[in-house]
Amino acid sequence: MRFEELDAEKARRLGSEENWLAAQDLVTNNQVHFRYRTPDRLEAAVQDNDNWYPAIVAIEDGVLKSSCSCPQQGEGWCACSLAVLAAWLEEPESFLDRSSLKDQLKQYSKADLIKIILEMADKVFETRELLKEESPDLDTLLESVDHIIAEAGAMSAGETAELEQKLRLAQEKADRLAQMGRLSEARATYFYLLDNVYGLEEDLGKPGLFSEDLKHELFEEYCQLIHEDRNLDRTLVQQEIEQLESRPAFVAGQLNFSDLKKNFLDEVA
Ligand SMILES: [Zn+2]
Repeated sequence: MRFEELDAEKARRLGSEENWLAAQDLVTNNQVHFRYRTPDRLEAAVQDNDNWYPAIVAIEDGVLKSSCSCPQQGEGWCACSLAVLAAWLEEPESFLDRSSLKDQLKQYSKADLIKIILEMADKVFETRELLKEESPDLDTLLESVDHIIAEAGAMSAGETAELEQKLRLAQEKADRLAQMGRLSEARATYFYLLDNVYGLEEDLGKPGLFSEDLKHELFEEYCQLIHEDRNLDRTLVQQEIEQLESRPAFVAGQLNFSDLKKNFLDEVA
């Protein structure tokens, strides 16, 4: 079956009469949010007072299946899952079809996309928040690193996997700065990450607190950013390198700046 073939009669038989009525109310009161669809799946977040329940209706082997995290138990489908269907029956176009949206957006020129995004920023507050996140400022970024490092201080080696994920998010933001041409800010972030990671291991006397993978990656990217930056503040970078080289944990990690220095000094000369 396809969702396009679904009718109200079929939908209402999936749960109790009471739940079907509750589902209608949820739709009427605009409590079915973030509607989203694929060919064999409908999703929405259903709001019940202060609680939001992600509800999914899927077609599996030609049969309708529901899944929802609400506490409602008993015979048949819960009101939230039925509300997803009721919303679909009432207004199928309100379900975002991501793949067709993507296809549509691909056809626009960059200027068109800029116009659309600006219009969204005018009208939809969340767009502004999203755009701000996409364009991180250095202070906020470094502050977030401080928080992660403070958390890591209480852990032992092997427990830091989750924190490394967070550090990688900071790293992604630094990469975004680099993509925007803000190379010195990206480099400053990488330096800060390296200095803090090694600094913490040194302070705590726990050399393996963070993974070698992470440290190598940070180091490589840091060097890369130095290479790429045509407006490099050499004095500052010199200081950064000295600072890192003064850390025994860094030196013990077999990372070294000899290649970089060679190029770096060549360029100076
Ligand atoms: Zn539910």
